[in-house]
Amino acid sequence: MGLIVRALTRRNIAAIVAGVLLAGAPLIAFDFWLSGLIDRQGQEEVDISAKRAIALAESRVTQVIATLDGLAARGVDSCRPSDVEAMRQAAFDTMPVKEIAVIGPDGQTLCTHLGLPLGQRKMVASEPLVGANWYSFDIIQLENGQPMVRLRRQVGAGPNGIAALVPAFLFLPLISTQGGPFSAYAHIATANSTIIAHIGERPDAVDAAFVANTKSDKFGFDAEISMPRGHVIAGHAKLQWLGLFGTGAMLMILGVFSMLMPRRAPGNPVAEIESALKAGEFVPYYQPIVDIRSGQLRGAEVLVRWRKADGTLVLPGAFIPLAESSGLIREMTSDLMRRVCAEAGHALGCRPALKISFNFAGQLFCDEGIVKDVRKIFAGSPIKLSQVVLELTERDPIENFTETRQTIAAFQGLGVRIAIDDVGTGHSGLSYMLKLGVDIIKIDKMFVDAIGTDRNSTTIVETLVDLAHNMRMDVVAEGVENFEQVMYLRELGVRSAQGYVFAPPLPGKSFLQLVEAIDPRPATATEPKTEMADAQASAQVSAA
Ligand code: C2E
Ligand code: CA
Ligand code: CA
Repeated sequence: MGLIVRALTRRNIAAIVAGVLLAGAPLIAFDFWLSGLIDRQGQEEVDISAKRAIALAESRVTQVIATLDGLAARGVDSCRPSDVEAMRQAAFDTMPVKEIAVIGPDGQTLCTHLGLPLGQRKMVASEPLVGANWYSFDIIQLENGQPMVRLRRQVGAGPNGIAALVPAFLFLPLISTQGGPFSAYAHIATANSTIIAHIGERPDAVDAAFVANTKSDKFGFDAEISMPRGHVIAGHAKLQWLGLFGTGAMLMILGVFSMLMPRRAPGNPVAEIESALKAGEFVPYYQPIVDIRSGQLRGAEVLVRWRKADGTLVLPGAFIPLAESSGLIREMTSDLMRRVCAEAGHALGCRPALKISFNFAGQLFCDEGIVKDVRKIFAGSPIKLSQVVLELTERDPIENFTETRQTIAAFQGLGVRIAIDDVGTGHSGLSYMLKLGVDIIKIDKMFVDAIGTDRNSTTIVETLVDLAHNMRMDVVAEGVENFEQVMYLRELGVRSAQGYVFAPPLPGKSFLQLVEAIDPRPATATEPKTEMADAQASAQVSAA
């Protein structure tokens, strides 16, 4: 018996070794590939996050400096009512600023734009701000423990200075590059290495596989992002499961593995978006915009959806940030415009009063040749450029103000109108955005939600409507969900609104049926007349 075993072992040993090697090689290669993918994505994510953190901090500080310089130029340095009024206006105009104050010679707050009694404030750190003469960068702790950044400057030769308070957490991004909540560790520090703000737990040195450090050339800030490797691995749980399944199959049948390989999803999210673009998986949905005085349809906003081959529909929050950071947003937006021309060109072209809005990422306004591209796309379509609206969000900082303003002017020269989206949520502040010379402002859902519950919000909407009317701009209210809000908005003088109370974003076919039902036109030879409107959507709109 022992002899047989020994003989068998000797005879088969070479075959067994060859088999294990043959089966094991692809398995090791797969693991190697997966690990490489994780490394690349992890490092890419922290690098981009660190750059975003610096861009955010720089834009916050630039905004505050512009505001304080404006006040200093006007000689605001006392608690006189006229100075407090100027501070109040400046605080309202500069979104991240929570308080503007007059500061005495020894650093104590003398009064604030709010005119309220001051709570206890503790100065935690203070240093001159690199890159901005006159300025000190202080870190203050309020009575409730909240850390605030205080930017402070002298005004002329007088004893007093002025300062603005911004919550320290606003110096770090709260959303990850993938669109979800920011879940890595991040901190931002001053030129003297004092931590301004941090998010999350700093991973142990052993875990922290991905670390990025970026320095601000402008103000000397330092951003550090670190993310445990396990974090990226967790994000690939599905892929790992697939990998396990794949490698199991490899061990059983090497040939099957090689046949499955090309069909496997690439796993790199940017590559996935790229191939989905090629496959035409990004499709337009249309959310009606309604005239709340007459109930008539005024047009629609195009909202992109990723319709995957398996039928799942992915919302833009999950892929737009990556499309923007990878530069694919330009092709995605052009493709979307072409699709809208093909799908809704006839319906919109024969109803010139209807407008069609596209979300236009801020970076596209700095993209050379974009105006020409858009003109070309619509040149072959019945949709006139005067029907096109481009929405620029206030949510993200403007990368290059001068270029953006020039591109906006060039679009307007063609008859295209420009809207500021998400007004009230932004990094930039409305007064800054208005310098871009836009035509429409879209009031964010946040203020619409607060209608009827919060007096302040009504005042803000009222102020925005007044401002818009004075500057001959149109106003659109977003995210309107109930009739109480419709009534309020109507009373406040808002003309147009969109939201679930009228209709959700609709697929092309339903939107076209709705347009046809509201405003029937004779069918053309090429386009058969659509039947009845989508019952639900039509009921919702006509209820307006
Ligand atoms: P947005 O431009 O502010 O679009 C409005 C969002 O609010 C849409 O979300 C819409 O479905 C949703 N919405 C509309 N009415 C209501 C309502 O009454 N209640 C509630 N709760 N939500 C409502 P969606 O489609 O998920 O789009 C999210 C964001 O993605 C958009 O926000 C826009 O910033 C961006 N986005 C969408 N399509 C594009 C695109 O083609 N290009 C770019 N760059 N961004 C896009
Ligand atoms: Ca929008
Ligand atoms: Ca919006």
